[in-house]
Amino acid sequence: KKFTEGLTKTRTAFVERVEDLIIRRKKIDEEFYEELEEILIGADVGVNTVMKLIDELRVEVRKRRIENADELQPVLSEKLVGLLRSDEDNGLKLAPSGLTVILFVGVNGVGKTTTIGKMAHRFKQEGKKVLLAAGDTFRAGAIEQLEVWGQRVGVDVIKQQAGSDPAAVMYDAVQAAKTRGADILLCDTAGRLQNKVNLMEELNKIYRVIKREVPDAPHEVLLVLDATTGQNALSQAKLFGDKTGLTGLVLTKLDGTAKGGIVIAIRQEVGIPVKFVGLGEKMDDLQEFDSEQFVHALFA
Ligand code: GDP
Repeated sequence: KKFTEGLTKTRTAFVERVEDLIIRRKKIDEEFYEELEEILIGADVGVNTVMKLIDELRVEVRKRRIENADELQPVLSEKLVGLLRSDEDNGLKLAPSGLTVILFVGVNGVGKTTTIGKMAHRFKQEGKKVLLAAGDTFRAGAIEQLEVWGQRVGVDVIKQQAGSDPAAVMYDAVQAAKTRGADILLCDTAGRLQNKVNLMEELNKIYRVIKREVPDAPHEVLLVLDATTGQNALSQAKLFGDKTGLTGLVLTKLDGTAKGGIVIAIRQEVGIPVKFVGLGEKMDDLQEFDSEQFVHALFA
């Protein structure tokens, strides 16, 4: 139900146009494919992915001897699910016992703090003991903003003063988590892109400090991306890519965009699973990503 509401804009811009095309053209011919291509590209599915998808559709249409456009929709849904599915999907990797550390990376403004707050709420509702680490010591207000979420959700924030070494904050946070017997430590990091080299070095240092204290951590490194920035999100995913040992993506603000097709482009071109999506600004508006549910909600 959440998906269905959150994807309203994408559904209007994408699925309703496909449905209109199907009714209007009736037959599957070259013009049909061309128009479908335009609609998909308009929804930010990404040119390469669209080409691949159209090719696959052509094969399937021939194989199943489909002539009428109205028979195409289930085939299209099936293909979209296929593009989105991945073996590593399905939830977060947690420590089998003891402390789980999850690192959040991403550019300022994408919704990193909000996602950490929502995730804290989620784990807390599952009865887990959660701590937050204020690792963005660079951006003015970042620590306070995390504290606001901490209070809202009812979890503590481990912090130092603004400008301090983020790796030192992480060290403190891991020690605190161990001492207090926390189950989950969610770590915020800086997202300034003005100096990419410095940022990547900082993230690597944080990574190493965490690993030294908890050898199988971080259990997840999640890159947070803003879906409303479309192709920009895609290039951020490529930028962070292998430099930070990413294990998953969180795509925020899907409710605010008609270009939900970006999920498909990112899945195809980056090859890292989308683990969660943000569907609003509230505590409960974080949804575990499921390719079938997603496509189903699009065509609902
Ligand atoms: P950060 O700089 O990456 O930590 O970004 P913030 O967490 O401060 O979020 C930036 C803005 O995006 C805030 O106004 C959030 O309320 C908003 N935001 C975050 N996630 C979502 C989402 O899933 N949907 C919507 N509509 N807004 C969101």
